[in-house]
Amino acid sequence: MPRSSASPSELAAPRGEGGEFCVVCGRADVPTVDGECADCFSKRHPLVSVADHPTVVLCPTCGARLVGSHWERSGSSTLLTSEDLVRFLVPLEEVGIRRVSWDETGANPLVRSLTGALDVRFRGTERSCSVTMQVKIQHRTCTECSRRAGHYFTAIIQLRGLEERIKEPSRELRARIARVWDHLQPEVRNDWKNALSWREELPEGWNIYFKDTLAARAMARWMKDRLGAQLKESASLYGRKDGHDVYRVTFCLRIPPGADPENRPSRRASAA
Ligand SMILES: [Zn+2]
Ligand SMILES: [Zn+2]
Repeated sequence: MPRSSASPSELAAPRGEGGEFCVVCGRADVPTVDGECADCFSKRHPLVSVADHPTVVLCPTCGARLVGSHWERSGSSTLLTSEDLVRFLVPLEEVGIRRVSWDETGANPLVRSLTGALDVRFRGTERSCSVTMQVKIQHRTCTECSRRAGHYFTAIIQLRGLEERIKEPSRELRARIARVWDHLQPEVRNDWKNALSWREELPEGWNIYFKDTLAARAMARWMKDRLGAQLKESASLYGRKDGHDVYRVTFCLRIPPGADPENRPSRRASAA
């Protein structure tokens, strides 16, 4: 029934089952909810709106996102992704979001302007709609990165196998290197031990972090002789402090299998 022919009383009280019509467009051949057909409703109301003050808190060092009280997705890009944005979308209860494609406009690095083109399902039919939002970016160092940053170091001794390419299973390699390291400890000078900050397990071996480069160098050279290892020293520019370049020095020790105390039963027997 065309809308023009509907009397005011009919508008106020839509007819019952079988005789419903849309109070906006007057169509009687489509289902209505509260007097409105799906077409008219979706023209007059946003099917998907945007949460208040959308903000992404990200770690500038590793790219992790703060979601609630947890840091997630360490290692992801610091650029906004749909994973960041989709949680700011608030669909009406009857609306299911099928697909969103995002378009970024504007150049402010801390407030991103975004437009999302959405495919949604609403009352049984597919529709398109769009949203715009301004997303604030907050940089905050994540707990993992602050933990690492709290560890001050100037040098690393890398304990590695003899081969650059790992041939033996890495867990056995690490266990072998750890045995060598532990076996040496009683002989390690106290000032070297005091310079040691922490150690880190890696697939290819261990990294030992030092707060004092001279101590690390002395210890690396001692271990080279003691273990018959190969030693390579390299420095990398780390930053500037008080107008001077600051370097971190890496001592890579390649330890032969024969240095493993378990491979030297006779020596172990005589030491016992
Ligand atoms: Zn309608
Ligand atoms: Zn981080």
